[in-house]
Amino acid sequence: MIMKSELPSWNEMEEGFITRTLTEEINETGSWRTFKPVIDHSRCTKCRLCIIYCPEPCIDLEVTSSDEKVTIDYNFCKGCGICAEECPVTCINMVEE
Ligand code: SF4
Ligand code: SF4
Repeated sequence: MIMKSELPSWNEMEEGFITRTLTEEINETGSWRTFKPVIDHSRCTKCRLCIIYCPEPCIDLEVTSSDEKVTIDYNFCKGCGICAEECPVTCINMVEE
């Protein structure tokens, strides 16, 4: 039986065992989109659920000294609509591009 400590870590494995998607660097998934999520900031409660559910992930909470604001990076948002579906106050609308 092989002990866990004897197994190679992910970066020691030979090519073919793992693939690196490099999503953030080369794959601008925003080009897949036909609908884009638009946040109604006046109704957003900053609950962060959309950040947790976004599969990309391309939603972030911008924090300044005086405010917090949920933002979407449209270079990587693929328009799946999960954020709009999960937002508890339905303040994300999917708008056709
Ligand atoms: S899920 Fe909706 S209410 Fe919550 S942070 Fe996202 S946009 Fe705002
Ligand atoms: S539409 Fe999908 S990919 Fe785009 S921000 Fe919402 S959950 Fe993320």
